[in-house]
Amino acid sequence: MRVQVAIIGSGPSGLLLGQLLGDAGIETIILDRASREHILSRVRAGVLEEGMVGLMDKAGVGTRMHAEGLPHDGFSLAFDGRDHRIDLFGLTDGKRVTVYGQTELTRDLIEKREADGRPTVYEAANVTPQGFDGESPFVTYEKDGITHRIDCDFIAGCDGFHGASRKAVPENAIRTFEKVYPFGWLGILADVPPVSHELVYANHPRGFALCSMRSQTRSRYYIQCALDEKAEAWSDGRFWDELRRRLPAHHAEAMVTGASFEKSIAPLRSFVAEPMRFGRLFLVGDAAHIVPPTGAKGLNLAASDVHYLFAGLMEHYKDRSNAGIEAYSGRALARVWKAVRFSWWMTTMLHRFPDTGDFDQKIQEAELAYLTHSRAAETVLAENYVGLPY
Ligand SMILES: Cc1cc2nc3c(=O)[nH]c(=O)nc-3n(C[C@H](O)[C@H](O)[C@H](O)COP(=O)(O)OP(=O)(O)OC[C@H]3O[C@@H](n4cnc5c(N)ncnc54)[C@H](O)[C@@H]3O)c2cc1C
Repeated sequence: MRVQVAIIGSGPSGLLLGQLLGDAGIETIILDRASREHILSRVRAGVLEEGMVGLMDKAGVGTRMHAEGLPHDGFSLAFDGRDHRIDLFGLTDGKRVTVYGQTELTRDLIEKREADGRPTVYEAANVTPQGFDGESPFVTYEKDGITHRIDCDFIAGCDGFHGASRKAVPENAIRTFEKVYPFGWLGILADVPPVSHELVYANHPRGFALCSMRSQTRSRYYIQCALDEKAEAWSDGRFWDELRRRLPAHHAEAMVTGASFEKSIAPLRSFVAEPMRFGRLFLVGDAAHIVPPTGAKGLNLAASDVHYLFAGLMEHYKDRSNAGIEAYSGRALARVWKAVRFSWWMTTMLHRFPDTGDFDQKIQEAELAYLTHSRAAETVLAENYVGLPY
């Protein structure tokens, strides 16, 4: 089989790229090692920048997102027993974020791809990108005991942090940068109304907490936890008690609790691989970079990578120029590093680090106090949170 672009990974980056290319008349196939059901059941990000919203519209899959997504004009920083609202809309000349679950966004993209009759192979084993340093790249995979080969012009490695694409790059051609944080996030999903109509990011001596949501009736709550914690050790009651302790009294008292239907612990990491292009193989999204979820940037960075790669591929196919392809890695990484910095900064400002001394603690408190007294400082936070321009 031959296609123009072989896409490895049916997460948001692979699906979005496939949709944009397909609409432009470029043939793609998507290969994923997971099943369709598994992909549709994954619970992950939920805060979309306007760039991501725009790409969903451009891909023709924005209808449900606009109907069901919640536009947010601000969020709260909670510390010292009080809230300080960051007015995203007012500080950024009218920009906002949209709360819409990655699970829903993935469903919209998968259903559109199916309706358009574009091919996806699920449960593809041993997916391997090959020959990408020459003119004739190809991807092999196994399905039902048979080895298949897809010849193509380009390979898009959209297969996440643990995927095969980055691993296929020779060690001496890639450089990685990594910071692992000494804590994780214990998160739950519960069908209870959110404690506040906007997100609440809480800095508390017992650790960070985040009150988020997926809809008016479904809440997503997180608490910072030690890396050796086990989700099974946290009954719903224990989780709600701990969350309440970390919030200002008015939130704790207003909180509606109930049975959770998802509970898991995610480690926090910053990671960047450079470059993001190796001949005819491109790394896209989590395959190239990971950020801690504090700034809600992971999914949104996948979207900006797709934007740059799609533009480069269009230049190649429509204008017969490789300039955009050659610029892909540099353009994407320039934006990636700014989001990595922002995510690291928010994480550092809001969490308790096990080795925090008195000096570091005072600096964290000064950082928060500065934010509440300086419009310039708030503006820096707001413009990064709503997303830097592409
Ligand atoms: C548990 C978790 C919670 C998260 N929470 C948040 C959050 O709250 N906020 C936020 O902004 N971001 C969050 N993120 C990050 C966000 O979900 C990612 O940035 C986003 O999913 C990136 O999309 P992607 O398409 O690049 O990669 P992925 O979504 O990881 O998709 C990669 C796809 O490739 C497939 N794949 C993997 N390996 C192979 C292989 N060898 N062969 C073929 N296919 C393969 C996978 O099955 C998957 O479908 C979270 C991530 C995780 C893992």
